[in-house]
Amino acid sequence: SLPIVAVVGRPNVGKSTLVNRILGRRQAVVEDVAGVTRDRVAYDAEWTGRHFTVVDTGGWLPDAKERARAIATQAEIAAQTADVVLFVVDATIPPTSDDEAAVRMLRRSGSPVILVANKVDNARIEGEIASLWGLGLGEPFPVSALHGRGAGDLLDKILEAL
Ligand code: GDP
Ligand code: MG
Repeated sequence: SLPIVAVVGRPNVGKSTLVNRILGRRQAVVEDVAGVTRDRVAYDAEWTGRHFTVVDTGGWLPDAKERARAIATQAEIAAQTADVVLFVVDATIPPTSDDEAAVRMLRRSGSPVILVANKVDNARIEGEIASLWGLGLGEPFPVSALHGRGAGDLLDKILEAL
């Protein structure tokens, strides 16, 4: 079976947009309203001749307490079943307590995690991502899932980690 890359993170950070960027086509559902992606959806992906499965996650509950737990649970499932986890944050705003709860889960799991700083649409935003080292997941990897900035480099990094 193919190696699995799971994409996890808070609602609206751009997980489904990133999945579409990885696939090179619009297939994952992108929504301006948080919380509508089904729980876990798997797609076949390919980059430079290598094939893998990419899993989009979502389905968060609206209630704040439930939501934090749901995100941490998704992170835990992803870490248990994936060969590499892409933990996606919105680089245009500071990390939230939900981000931090998921990070604690991922760090405990010991699974390989790539910290994806999404919505880095330009050089100015890229200049501000150094603070994300503070999450304790290593180097933040800047991309703009929407515009494709950094996407090829991220795919190379994913394949290195598989
Ligand atoms: P998800 O809930 O994490 O799956 O997030 P979505 O992929 O549905 O995206 C949520 C919103 O963020 C949508 O309006 C996207 O167009 C927007 N978005 C996603 N990636 C980027 C990006 O790289 N830059 C900008 N500016 N917006 C983005
Ligand atoms: Mg989504």
